[in-house]
Amino acid sequence: MDKPNINTNKINWNFDNTYSKLPKSFLSETLPVSVKSPQLIILNHNLSKKLNLNFSDSSNEDLAQTFSGNLLPEGSKSISQAYAGHQFGHFTMLGDGRAVLIGEHISKKDERFDIQFKGSGKTPFSRNGDGRAALGPMLREYILSEAMYNLNIPTTRSLAVVKTGENVIRENILPGAILTRVASSHIRVGTFQYIAAKQNKKELKAIFDYTINRHYPIIKQSKNQALDLLKTLIDKQIDLVINWMRIGFVHGVMNTDNMAISGETIDYGPCAFMDTYDPKTVFSSIDQMGRYAFCNQPIITKWNLARFAECLIPLIDANQNKAIGLATEIINSFEKKYEEKWLEMMRNKLGFIGTTEKDRSLILDLLTLMHQKKMDYTNTFCHLMNLEIQKDIIYKDNDFQIWKKRWRERLSANQNPEEHMKLMRSVNPIVIPRNHKVEEALNKADHDNLESIIKLLKILSTPYTKQKDIIEYQLPLISNKKYQTFCGT
Ligand code: AMP
Ligand code: MG
Repeated sequence: MDKPNINTNKINWNFDNTYSKLPKSFLSETLPVSVKSPQLIILNHNLSKKLNLNFSDSSNEDLAQTFSGNLLPEGSKSISQAYAGHQFGHFTMLGDGRAVLIGEHISKKDERFDIQFKGSGKTPFSRNGDGRAALGPMLREYILSEAMYNLNIPTTRSLAVVKTGENVIRENILPGAILTRVASSHIRVGTFQYIAAKQNKKELKAIFDYTINRHYPIIKQSKNQALDLLKTLIDKQIDLVINWMRIGFVHGVMNTDNMAISGETIDYGPCAFMDTYDPKTVFSSIDQMGRYAFCNQPIITKWNLARFAECLIPLIDANQNKAIGLATEIINSFEKKYEEKWLEMMRNKLGFIGTTEKDRSLILDLLTLMHQKKMDYTNTFCHLMNLEIQKDIIYKDNDFQIWKKRWRERLSANQNPEEHMKLMRSVNPIVIPRNHKVEEALNKADHDNLESIIKLLKILSTPYTKQKDIIEYQLPLISNKKYQTFCGT
């Protein structure tokens, strides 16, 4: 089981391993499986600064060994985590089938980050999988998670991608790769489901205490800690899904194992960004019923939170009926809270300061128009901010003009036009990861050309700021072919 260590002082890893001290059944001690000839593809220097890591004293070969898991840093205790999850509504035992958590890195600001290798080989949870990942999907996660971070949306992040020098067999033979994922933790709704399913209250209490200690220590003072964790998670997840709705993000695989207790966006398998506004937008090839369509995301968030509430029942009250009553009441508060926060978000997108009774109908009428007239979600808001990205005839449309007149009247209630523009500019991205640009960059990377990825990442690093000559990154691809994404690749 032993692996050679490397000199940690070179990189400044500062590992702790609190999760590995939890009951044995929560995890398995698993080392990353060594790979043939690792090659560093990309390294996130911005993130490394935040983590206080130092790569300047390491050669690319050293870094490739480090981020492939061929060498493990001193102080690391590598584990795979057990979890379960409702996948498309069906309960399944899962666990890290192709990932290991090598430790929790503590930054100088005393922030704790899980450092996880994804694609690191078989684990006891691999079932029939090969434990590996392909280069394209790992780079895709890197691009999209960093884009989400820069869009000011809570998310796991990506520190590095290495090629393994080995092939993985999918529909085609693809180059293998490992992504280093950084998360405030990997505790999922599915982690609670796995432990709750064993009906061992002591173990449930152990993950519960661990979670509030790590993420929500304020709850330790609560009268009913379990109820307060539920309330907190509802708020966190509402904020998250509203952020997704704000920018047209379709997660694509909102299974309960892909919902993090930290409130971060996690699992970038089949996600993509909506171009033309259509509430029913689905990209994932396996989501035939549209369970995780754009407009269903809030409903599914509530459904997942109800599964989380079920896990907490034994901790809410010794009287099961009473506990169920209390949890149900909290879960039922979801709609009202969501509706209020959604309205606020849409008001911001339209630059409305304060509230009026007309706001709701103005918002809904715009969305209906955008849907009927097949308007681009991102670029329509850019148009309203006077950024003419698409000289689209649609903006001359009579119905749209009539709506715009009503919108202007609403804005004129406020004296200072700069104020609403400022508000709009803070929430409406000028550029998003357009699906065709992401694909184009990934295709080039498959042929060892990383320039397009670097350029794309640079443009996506300031999505709310005007940038020169980026029009091709702002326009949607006009195509009859529906964009499709794939899971587990
Ligand atoms: P995901 O669709 O990424 O949320 O993964 C669902 C489950 O499948 C998780 O338990 C993963 O660890 C597992 N999984 C996905 N791909 C592989 C693979 N290539 N080998 C083993 N397990 C995998
Ligand atoms: Mg997952």
